[in-house]
Amino acid sequence: MTAIRTGNLGYPRIGSNREWKKHLESYWAGKIDETQLKEQMKKLRRQYLKTQQEKGVDWVPVGDFTFYDHVLDTAAMFGLIPKRFAHTGGPVSLDTYFAMARGNQGAVACEMTKWFNTNYHYIVPEFEPEITPLLTENKPLKAFEEAKQWGIKGKPVLLGPFTLLKLSKGYDSNQFADLLLETLVPLYEQVLKELETAGAEWVQMDEPSLVTDVNPKEWSWIDRAYSRLTTAAPRLRLLLQTYFDSATAYPSLIRLPVHGIGLDLVHGKKGNLDSLQAHGFPADKTLALGIIDGRNIWKTPLAEQLKLLEQIQSRVKPAEWWLQPSCSLLHVPVEAAQETGLRPELAGAIAFANEKLDELAVLAKGFKHGKTSISDSLQENTDAIKRFRNASFRHVSGLRETLANLSSEDFQRSHPFSERKQLQAESHPLPLFPTTTIGSFPQSADVRRARRKWRAGEWSEEQYESFLRDETARWIGIQEEIGLDVLVHGEFERTDMVEYFSDKLDGYSKTANGWVQSYGSRCVKPPIIHGDVAFLSPMTVKESVYAQSLTDKKVKGMLTGPTTMIRWSFVRDDLPVSEISLQIGYALRKEVEALEKEGIGIIQVDEPALREGLPLKQIDWKAYLEQAVQSFRLATSSVQPDTQIHTHMCYSEFHDIIEAIQALDADVISIESSRSHGELVRSFEEKTYTQGIGLGIYDIHSPRIPEEEEMARTIERALRVLPPSLFWINPDCGLKTRNEKETVESLVRMIQVAHRLREQW
Ligand code: GLN
Ligand code: ZN
Repeated sequence: MTAIRTGNLGYPRIGSNREWKKHLESYWAGKIDETQLKEQMKKLRRQYLKTQQEKGVDWVPVGDFTFYDHVLDTAAMFGLIPKRFAHTGGPVSLDTYFAMARGNQGAVACEMTKWFNTNYHYIVPEFEPEITPLLTENKPLKAFEEAKQWGIKGKPVLLGPFTLLKLSKGYDSNQFADLLLETLVPLYEQVLKELETAGAEWVQMDEPSLVTDVNPKEWSWIDRAYSRLTTAAPRLRLLLQTYFDSATAYPSLIRLPVHGIGLDLVHGKKGNLDSLQAHGFPADKTLALGIIDGRNIWKTPLAEQLKLLEQIQSRVKPAEWWLQPSCSLLHVPVEAAQETGLRPELAGAIAFANEKLDELAVLAKGFKHGKTSISDSLQENTDAIKRFRNASFRHVSGLRETLANLSSEDFQRSHPFSERKQLQAESHPLPLFPTTTIGSFPQSADVRRARRKWRAGEWSEEQYESFLRDETARWIGIQEEIGLDVLVHGEFERTDMVEYFSDKLDGYSKTANGWVQSYGSRCVKPPIIHGDVAFLSPMTVKESVYAQSLTDKKVKGMLTGPTTMIRWSFVRDDLPVSEISLQIGYALRKEVEALEKEGIGIIQVDEPALREGLPLKQIDWKAYLEQAVQSFRLATSSVQPDTQIHTHMCYSEFHDIIEAIQALDADVISIESSRSHGELVRSFEEKTYTQGIGLGIYDIHSPRIPEEEEMARTIERALRVLPPSLFWINPDCGLKTRNEKETVESLVRMIQVAHRLREQW
């Protein structure tokens, strides 16, 4: 009988009460020293391993724990430490490590970007010609040895060389093969040999890049790399782990000389099943199946997954079966049992990391001994899911019909942009190069204190609202004084642009403790879309109307768009995302109409997450973008032609989606761009964009006050390709993380630049 085992790919670092975050921040604040930090972290590691072991995981991952980010760990381990951090060899000190992540006096931090299509951010490794990669320490070995002392034979986890290189910067594409095969592979060989000597049996090589578009040349390099790695440590078994989508080039993948292959049967279900069906699976390799969703919070439909496993079992005969979560559990919160405040049907339908490991054990038992061996658990699971599915609060009557009956006109502004532009100029004349901001102003200590007092019940609703009004009034005054053309109310009432709306829309819930790591010690608590999303009552009208009442200048309304509302939430999985997206678009449409009715003539619908949500395989882009565009247009198309619709996007690589951005048909778009300006402008050199556009002209992520000259140069370059009559002047993103002084000084300079420009043109 073929063995059936369970494995885990990675466990959340943050702790069930974010202890990890607290320790890190205490260290950064100088409240605890390095020894204390390391002690605390060791305690957490032990606890995490023990939890997984107690839950019956056969192959517990080690080395997935980190003090900041696992990609940074890998870079540090291989000596990829940019010169500016003045590392002099040997193991990387904790301070150098944190400096790479967060910057220090002498050196700017390494870049940070999204980990595939998740909301986790990793630190981008940098190759530099002057830096020779070398093994500074064998991190997985240390983790393995440590776990051994605690009586656990762990499975070291390593970010594989192909993905590491794919995620790095600082080299030309023609160096790729060399860097992979001549530079990185020898270092990996050393790591693996040492693990072999220490008695490790399996090593999980994470290669999520193998689900993206990999070309045949790259495949031949991957093949060579893994041949060498398996030869270097012949007694070690390598599990090549893919996740987040189906494996591309499956036939090539299963031919690699590794001992096991991990496939994601949740997020790559269709592709991977088709491949298993069409090409089978080698009888001498372990097949590790990601059967429990590692990225969402819903209970696993156990009966369904068991059936799926049996279906696969009837087709392939691997050397060994491993059942696993679909990816590292770092993307879900730790413990659903803590969520006692949710509606019972919802609470009964969710599983966080710990519960997912329980499910894994049950599934494995069922797979081994048959359905009847787990009949109680199956019954309970089926009932809970059914209770949730049928809960009346999930359904908004009539909504499906309304959406099904929308016509193409509902997605179309009444006038083309050229005519709208004219009408808008008449209704609210603006100077050439109008100036504005992206929406938020500093969430100062005062703002945060006020919110705390209100939440704690120390302040009444009225007290808090009057504070918010005063803050808006103060900032309307500041904006008028520095001479901005289109003003904003400042978003002081919002902690988070998604949470704010999810609190006010039907169909969303929030958890008490459902935190996940976003980057470093920063955690987010995504709301849950548990049912049909619908408009209940105006969400932003009061604030915008109040702000408008204080000034003769135009105040811009401020909403979060459908794609971003989805991307930054845990989304129900019983309805296609396209449908949910339309529901949100429709709800926002009502908000847009309410704002317009109350005299708000400029409305911005932010879609910062649109670009980062692009699917991992290019062939899936079209459907994703269509859905994003449709829901945005549903939200924004019913307004009068002279109402000006703005949108804003973060992330600077827009080259390949300019057509979609154009299709949004917004009157004005502002784009984050100051950090890679050249690149963004180049996109517009090659493709035309015909509507209003503000390329952020300074970087709000840095406390630095930009020089006027710098901003002027940036604009000059943009104006070579973009028509001045469509060009807006604005910072790069919202200003909520900056302080008042930085904000005002930067904006004063920005407006100087706009004035100078107006004289020139
Ligand atoms: N309007 C939001 C703000 O200014 C936009 C934030 C974002 O782009 N992420 O904060
Ligand atoms: Zn932004």
